Amino acid sequence: MDSEWSTASSDGVASESAPESASASESASESAEELHDGQADKRDAAWVAKRFPGATDAVLSCPMCFTQICFVCQHHVRFPGQYRAREVAHCRTLEDKLYVFGKRGRLEPAPDGAPQGSEVFRLVVCAECGARVGVVDADGAYHLFEVVAGS
Ligand SMILES: [Zn+2]
Repeated sequence: MDSEWSTASSDGVASESAPESASASESASESAEELHDGQADKRDAAWVAKRFPGATDAVLSCPMCFTQICFVCQHHVRFPGQYRAREVAHCRTLEDKLYVFGKRGRLEPAPDGAPQGSEVFRLVVCAECGARVGVVDADGAYHLFEVVAGS
């Protein structure tokens, strides 16, 4: 009886603790990252909500390095995944990379000698990793469409 009990309990402990600790250490690093990002998002969202109540549809991040690049933006009414913003963070504007919106609203490199004006856009890239995130027009309005949106 005694040996049966001790065997059962030691089996139970072994089979429970071994896979649990293995999966726990795996998922711990994953969930720690998620938790960290989630907390950062919440903090920034809270900050934005405080400073610009009801002003933003999303917090936008770089798709490559996930640096947060925009805290106040409006979701485009017609194009899902596209956002307009007046201000961005951690971004660089490439003054010599000019683009125009071609037919069907596709962004295309501006042909040489393209007229300067509101129809011409300069390329905006992530300052951290250089990924293309959108364009800015002559009025300083940002059009961000290669971004990851959080709330
Ligand atoms: Zn980046």
